[in-house]
Amino acid sequence: MIDPKVKLQRLERILEISRELTSTVSLEPLLHQIVEVAAELSGSQAASILLLDTRSGELRFRAANDDPAGQLRDIPVPVENSIAGAVLVSGKPAVVSDTRAEPRHYQVVGKRTGLETNSLLAVPLQIKDRRIGVLEAINKQAGGTFDQENVEILTTLAAQAAVAIENAQLVGALQAAYERLEELDQLKSNVIAIASHELRTPLGLILGYATLLQEQLGEAAKPQLDAVSRAALRLKYIIETMLNMRYLETGQMELSPTCFDLRAEIKEACNDYRTIAQAKELVLETDLPDVETLTQADREKMRIVLDNLISNAVKFTPSGGQVRVAMRRRDDEIELTVTDTGIGIAPQELERIFDRFYQIEDHMTRRHGGVGLGLSTVKGLVELHGGRVWAESVPGRGSRFIVILPARPPQP
Ligand code: ADP
Repeated sequence: MIDPKVKLQRLERILEISRELTSTVSLEPLLHQIVEVAAELSGSQAASILLLDTRSGELRFRAANDDPAGQLRDIPVPVENSIAGAVLVSGKPAVVSDTRAEPRHYQVVGKRTGLETNSLLAVPLQIKDRRIGVLEAINKQAGGTFDQENVEILTTLAAQAAVAIENAQLVGALQAAYERLEELDQLKSNVIAIASHELRTPLGLILGYATLLQEQLGEAAKPQLDAVSRAALRLKYIIETMLNMRYLETGQMELSPTCFDLRAEIKEACNDYRTIAQAKELVLETDLPDVETLTQADREKMRIVLDNLISNAVKFTPSGGQVRVAMRRRDDEIELTVTDTGIGIAPQELERIFDRFYQIEDHMTRRHGGVGLGLSTVKGLVELHGGRVWAESVPGRGSRFIVILPARPPQP
């Protein structure tokens, strides 16, 4: 019978260890820590962890504190015909006081490594009903045998260890998935860069020849050549959007700030969309200061911001609706808003719409055109100007995009 005080001390030690284990999320150090503790708590010479390799169906040594050279790792242990395998399958601990008298003992390990196993205690690494491997204590110190107390304490440790191992594996898998995602993102970026550069030259030729033919043929093929030019210009716009996005992403986008009247720029941008708005029977109106609003910014880039916000508002507002572009100066900030009475945006989408290539509608069933880069370009450009942008919306009632720009942005 074991002294209750000693038992309490051991349980306290387990608790302490359990806290340590759950705070280690890196798999290799964690496994190492577990074998150290297992040997200490069971009073044995060494301990090892075997995890089930679900692909090969074999057990694999993942850590052992009597194997500094790591030779155990190369030796698979079959689930059938091994003590560890029997523990894995049954979920019950196994105590072997003399391995020579135990026919299930897998002797290949000892023969190949020279590591001698005389006595053995193996317990399952189990999470609920799922067993992921086996924890073994090897060679009870001073030639003794493992008793019930050792079995209990190692079983308790194994339960904590199994959860910690699984957590570390999940964290590792998550990390790997994240790295893969970053690689894919880089790949996507490269494809965009290559594609847009390669498309620019043939597109220039198409546009050039369309103009030349228009001059040579006069009215003869005007509607057809107009259609070719319009389509080519649309392509040019998409390519420029992709290139802008890439420059923003790689920090290569440069601003050329000048001092210009933002009010006039807004009026011009709105005028460009008047025909489309009229065709859709939309009211497109402005609410601007009475006097010019001189702004220090990159005029072309600001126009891209305006174009994207206005074209989205027009695109996502059904016939009979209203789009309102407003601007006002407040202290040292300029507030620009584009408000529509369109389809609106669900609360959970309000931030995501500024992500690259994000579109709320599935691209297979989409009713509206676009590549999903408009708002991420807007965000990138506004932030480059030292400003911020966000969206507010009541689904089904309409949306408002708010851009705040510093009246005097930081000099590049
Ligand atoms: P796209 O080229 O598809 O318009 P954007 O990046 O400009 O790409 O917009 C991303 C998505 O945000 C759009 O596909 C649309 O679902 C949503 N969105 C943008 N503006 C509005 C708006 N004014 N009203 C409703 N939804 C909008």
